[in-house]
Amino acid sequence: MPTSVGAPRQLLRRLREVMAQQESAQARLDRVVVLIASNMVAEVCSLYLGRRDGSLELFATEGLNPGAVHNTHLKPGEGLVGLIAEQAEPMQFPDAQHHPAFSYRPETGEEIYHSFVGVPILRGGHTIGVLTVQNRTKRTYSDEEIEALQTTAMVLAEMIASGGLLTGEVSTEGRRELAASFTGLPLSEGVALGHVVLHEPRIVVTRLIAEDIEFERRRLLQAIEELTGMIDTMMERGDLARAGEHREVLEAFRMFAHDHGWRRRLDEALLTGLTAEAAVQRVRNDTRARMLRMPDPYTRDRLHDIDDLSNRLLRLLAGGVGTAATGSLPQDAIVIARTMGPAELLDYDRQRLRGLVLEEGGAQSHVAIVARALGIASLTQVKGVLETVEPGDAAIVDADSGELHIRPTQEVIAAYADKVRFRARRQAQYAALRTVPPVTLDGERIALHINAGLLYDLPHLDQSGADGIGLFRTELQFMISATFPRLEQQTRLYKAILDAAGDRPVVFRSLDVGGDKVLPYFRADKEENPAIGWRAIRMALDRPALFRTQVRALLRAAHGRELRLMLPMIADRSEFEAARKLIDREVTILKRHRRPEPKRLMIGVMVEVPALLWQLDKVLPLADFASVGSNDLIQFLFAADRGNTRVSERFDALNPAALKALRQVVEAAARHEVPLNLCGEMAGRPLEAMTLIGLGFRSISMAPASVGPVKAMILSLDAGALRERLDELLGSEKASLREDLRRFAAEKGVQI
Ligand code: PEP
Ligand code: MG
Repeated sequence: MPTSVGAPRQLLRRLREVMAQQESAQARLDRVVVLIASNMVAEVCSLYLGRRDGSLELFATEGLNPGAVHNTHLKPGEGLVGLIAEQAEPMQFPDAQHHPAFSYRPETGEEIYHSFVGVPILRGGHTIGVLTVQNRTKRTYSDEEIEALQTTAMVLAEMIASGGLLTGEVSTEGRRELAASFTGLPLSEGVALGHVVLHEPRIVVTRLIAEDIEFERRRLLQAIEELTGMIDTMMERGDLARAGEHREVLEAFRMFAHDHGWRRRLDEALLTGLTAEAAVQRVRNDTRARMLRMPDPYTRDRLHDIDDLSNRLLRLLAGGVGTAATGSLPQDAIVIARTMGPAELLDYDRQRLRGLVLEEGGAQSHVAIVARALGIASLTQVKGVLETVEPGDAAIVDADSGELHIRPTQEVIAAYADKVRFRARRQAQYAALRTVPPVTLDGERIALHINAGLLYDLPHLDQSGADGIGLFRTELQFMISATFPRLEQQTRLYKAILDAAGDRPVVFRSLDVGGDKVLPYFRADKEENPAIGWRAIRMALDRPALFRTQVRALLRAAHGRELRLMLPMIADRSEFEAARKLIDREVTILKRHRRPEPKRLMIGVMVEVPALLWQLDKVLPLADFASVGSNDLIQFLFAADRGNTRVSERFDALNPAALKALRQVVEAAARHEVPLNLCGEMAGRPLEAMTLIGLGFRSISMAPASVGPVKAMILSLDAGALRERLDELLGSEKASLREDLRRFAAEKGVQI
């Protein structure tokens, strides 16, 4: 069959004419199949569309028995048409009737046609219909012919989806209408009901058929060049933090942007007469369809990269690269992205942001820190969600259980509405405790502090009614900025924190970067074991300029006020001494310049490296205060990576060994009369916090949202009785005292 390159173009032009006519949807479809059949010199052309029940219905035909239209239905997977729909791939059969999948339908009269070719009509990677062509003779359809058919199918898909062809029974969304649930890793707790917003909006291609192919080709080339240029610059600058980009993903982008196969497919699509946008969309549809059926996670990820790249290209062609943050947001936005950088999250209007869902990124990622500070229910590692969602879909993020529900059923919505109401009631109860001092039933005043790290955390100090900031993680400012924060910037932040805290104490921790806390602009060697690598105080002592700038900024910010500075990851007394010397030098410089000094300077030690447990009597006399970093201390005690859920949950913080270590610190601090705090995550969990009080801690620091629940626990606790119970329990041989402590709480009516 002679098909020149001109034929598909001609077909597309004719299709456009059909679309421009004022007539019924059915009349249009009837004309479309006639057009295709004549263009492809085929006896038959048929169009099947998916119905809501998953079956395929013959919607129009040229060549088959007209009486079969709307009467022939194929169950999912039935016949060659069903096979194509399922595989979402073009297929041809020179001798169709002898194919095992052939399903004989007498009403159609198709038994006289031997050759058969069909292409899926794809939308978002899902099959919404199948377009077939049949010939009486046994023949093979050329690649160009199949290509032309695919292009036509794509144009049909866009027309159907935009309502140009018909409405009603057909499903234009493939499987998309069904409720779907996903699981992920909680990043920031909470439950949110809202509507989906895609962080990187998908472009709706409206202009499909090219007027001038050369012009479209130039546009596409220019857009690809612009895109590769952007990727190169981003990689050269190393400025990946803002967009939360992974280097590997960008490398993959770069590879695909230069990939001949991808470019060739784009070119072929252009040649069939599509616009630049439509060509990108066409190739993307095929990629997505392949991606959805790919069981191998690696290949799937790579296809995901192409999909992502195509989306960026479409946005460039549409003349913009902005994220959804700059557009209009619903009142209850659940933002969904593949990845996101902390600065990008901050671009969103907090008032409208309810939830965040990411496909990639660890729970310790920078964007997670910001999500927590903003208090948005967030999940990560929600694989495949972008393939399934459409903007505007209803969604529920349950970051307590790690679930995401898309297009939830009424029952699920009702259950969650109850949950949200319950949470709100409980929050109101906690809020009522705001001004109540945290004193146990037997009169022990427990200091409750919050952990913070950003300016956004500060309102939490008043809202929670906490005594102060027990841990200010200074590295967060470093992690969310694109370059090293300069002395002035640091000073400004620290001053703002101290101003906001007023006379409440603030404990600043010196920079704890390295390990998993990577600064995008700071290139350090890749380490085998970053958590026990070159981080925190180790880096500070080796690169004193960094540390000294920070100390200088803190001293300046604190002038006339009290400054508490805490040193992380101290493993030996000598490190504390060396750091103190550097701090003293900065104080001397300050004096020499006659700048105002802090009213009082207190230097604290973090107890988070196990070796320190046996040096407490040597280190504590040097320190003005101490704080247990139980996150690190426990991960190192059990040699279990805190970020790896496979092992981190294997060992309980309520293990007698861990608790004995903690009690040892309490006793040493008492011996040396050094104020002691604990600022790891366990302090924020009521049962664990109860246990800490039983061990003798009188000051703990936690995420702001935990202050209410922990205070409620304290108000119902008899610390003396617990201490006695713990003395007995610590001798236990169990791996965890959790159950025993729970029982204690239940017996004594402690609110945990
Ligand atoms: C800790 O280790 O317990 C701690 C509070 O510090 P970070 O979580 O920042 O390491
Ligand atoms: Mg730590």
